[in-house]
Amino acid sequence: MPRNAAFDSVRNHVLKEADVDTEAFWASLRGGDQGTTEEPLPLSECTTDGAWVTVRAKIVELWDPREDSIHQVGLVGDESGRMKFVAWTKSNPPVLEEDTTYTFKDVVVDEYDGNYSLKINSRSEIIEHARDSPEAIGTVGTMTTVYEGVFVAIQSQSGLIKRCTDPECTRVIQQGECSEHGPNEGEFDLRIKGVLDDGESVQECLFTAGMTEVVTGIDLETAMEMASDALDLTVVERRLTEMLIGRRFTVEGPLLGRYLLVDEVTDSSNRAFAQGYHDAVDDLLSEYGYYGPGLTAENIEDLPQTYDAPVAAGGN
Ligand SMILES: [Zn+2]
Repeated sequence: MPRNAAFDSVRNHVLKEADVDTEAFWASLRGGDQGTTEEPLPLSECTTDGAWVTVRAKIVELWDPREDSIHQVGLVGDESGRMKFVAWTKSNPPVLEEDTTYTFKDVVVDEYDGNYSLKINSRSEIIEHARDSPEAIGTVGTMTTVYEGVFVAIQSQSGLIKRCTDPECTRVIQQGECSEHGPNEGEFDLRIKGVLDDGESVQECLFTAGMTEVVTGIDLETAMEMASDALDLTVVERRLTEMLIGRRFTVEGPLLGRYLLVDEVTDSSNRAFAQGYHDAVDDLLSEYGYYGPGLTAENIEDLPQTYDAPVAAGGN
């Protein structure tokens, strides 16, 4: 028996003898709200990297593990939302079934690139709930957020990027290297990490390749052609910046960490301004190479909407 496990089991025994709630004890050791078997933490609140949490969730989807080290991988969901989970083979976890609710005790929140997932490890305890039990999760929430604002910035690592070719790794590689797997040729992908501003707050938004095409008409193939013509990957990011900055959009999707993962987007320029006005603003912004924050929906609305209609004094 490993020394730590022996120590834990003695401590648990002592706590039990002393009639101390072991779960509360562990939770207090870890600090913060981690959830308990009776009161699991909502998935939407699993946003502390490295936190040990207890959640109750239904298996929404199982994916094919692409590595022997992974026992099961997929999506779990509760009323508050859904989240990726991974169970490692070495931790000898039970086989989880789709559409079944489980309480996952002592699983670890993992954050990567603003996305959160749950890792089931050898210390985790999994309790299955019958489908007709009060614990069973009914409808899984999607936590969709709607945000309307002006596109004020595009963050680095937007446009044409290269991802690590390791099947379980989606990290963006830089200078031909994955931070986890070393030198890697990489696979092209297209995305936008953008910032929308509604005049009162900002929202970081992630547009996948599909959503980038919806919002700009540029798909992965076109982006690769653009880069190959210019012998420069960054040409795509510059083009996207020119197309989007200063335009108003309504986006909708789940919040993943600090990003809104856009799965619906509408150009809401028409709600406030004519296309000509936007073209003028776009031209002006690209002329000045505008790139940073500061432009808000409010101050853009303070600008004149037309340049050819002087206000007639005394007119109605
Ligand atoms: Zn990698």
